[in-house]
Amino acid sequence: MNFAELGLKSPLLEAITAAGYTEPTAVQLEAIPAALAGSDLLVSSHTGSGKTAAFMLPALQRLGTQPGARGKGPRVLVLTPTRELALQINRAALDYGKGVRNLRTAALVGGSSYAHQLRSLERPVDIAVATPGRLIDHLERGRIDLSRVEILVLDEADRMLDMGFLEDVENIVGRTPETRQTMMFSATLDGVVGNLARRLTRDARRIEVVTSEQQHANVEQIVLYADDLSHKNKLLDALLRNPDMQQCVVFAATKMAADQIAVQLEESGFRAASLHGDMHQGQRNRTLQGMREGRTQVLVATDVAARGIDVAGISHVINFDSPRQAEDYVHRIGRTGRAGRTGTAVTLMNHHERHRTRDIERYTGQPLRIETIAGLEPRRRPTKPSFGAPSGPRGADPRRGAPGGPRGGYAGRAAHGSHAGASAHSGAHAGAGPAPAADSRGPRSGPGQGYTARPRSR
Ligand code: ADP
Ligand code: MG
Repeated sequence: MNFAELGLKSPLLEAITAAGYTEPTAVQLEAIPAALAGSDLLVSSHTGSGKTAAFMLPALQRLGTQPGARGKGPRVLVLTPTRELALQINRAALDYGKGVRNLRTAALVGGSSYAHQLRSLERPVDIAVATPGRLIDHLERGRIDLSRVEILVLDEADRMLDMGFLEDVENIVGRTPETRQTMMFSATLDGVVGNLARRLTRDARRIEVVTSEQQHANVEQIVLYADDLSHKNKLLDALLRNPDMQQCVVFAATKMAADQIAVQLEESGFRAASLHGDMHQGQRNRTLQGMREGRTQVLVATDVAARGIDVAGISHVINFDSPRQAEDYVHRIGRTGRAGRTGTAVTLMNHHERHRTRDIERYTGQPLRIETIAGLEPRRRPTKPSFGAPSGPRGADPRRGAPGGPRGGYAGRAAHGSHAGASAHSGAHAGAGPAPAADSRGPRSGPGQGYTARPRSR
């Protein structure tokens, strides 16, 4: 099934080809025809599955083929939780809609110039992409009128509610016409989101594309245990020196930690930058642009700031601080493995956080693989060791050059598969032999060698 068969027409088809999309993703396959037919939609589908195009292409087709009512307010309104997402969606609208004549979009987000936004609202707008807070601002000052809205999209609805936007969202929706088409996208459609969905939509088509088991099947998920902060720093350094590393997002628990880690990485010679909510919008935009253009290699971010970031070059996600909730974990690892690529997500876990691996596995339905890095093994084994000394003799590395499994992977690879059974895990350790040397420098022994610490180079 191609995009034309879904009912999309020129000039959108040209824009899709220019974007390099050859076939619709699963969610697009289901959502696009339904949206074109005018149905309300309730969609849950994993991150990176192409939801933006799923709502934007049908919206653009409508804009291009049907005249709007008189007035200046937006015909399509997209609400999304963060500024970054709003700007990303706005960019996507301009990209997908580059062949749509006289298309005008406005990004209404906090932190960027008010005057500029006001100017963009002086002439009729086709698409407005907004964060709820800023849109309420504009509404209260009478700067925007929503009576012309034909299509309303709530993107990442669950997150908007998590961030306390329920009242704002309801207030905004209340100012749009009842006749509108509503499309709601959310990781979950239960609970509060489900209630909101029932109130805002009419005979909605429910589309749930991917089960949690299939989520992130293209992302290798690994846990490295760390004894303390200094051990974590060493692990991070070793990971970032891995030759498979292209670009990486490192997640930190707090804004301060994000800044500290970024500074520290820069001092070690990495092109690192931090991204969090305390930064000015201009700074945040520049940082993300640096990532997109490949100037920045490592982005150190907090959960909210990084939500939804879509940069195809992100090969790795590293959870320097483990996520508080399994749901955050899923959003974090969704920053890699974008657009059909593969990715690697590594979580640095303190020993006392061991229970979190289980929570995450239960939530995702996928096993986390516990690994070690040669020379940087944790002092405490992840599970009770059933054999001798915790760290092997230094200096010898009997395993170097040995086949490291199908994907090579981490040097000193320990357990494979689920760590659900403690005995299986320590058994795997026992079978792995003595830990490889800390200083196993020199030429790498093969393409899949993995995360052996490499000599520092600046
Ligand atoms: P989501 O909102 O579901 O997390 P996005 O809409 O941000 O996903 O899309 C994720 C990535 O997939 C983007 O880089 C986008 O350009 C790309 N993409 C979307 N649709 C397709 C497609 N049909 N073929 C290839 N890549 C696509
Ligand atoms: Mg999205």
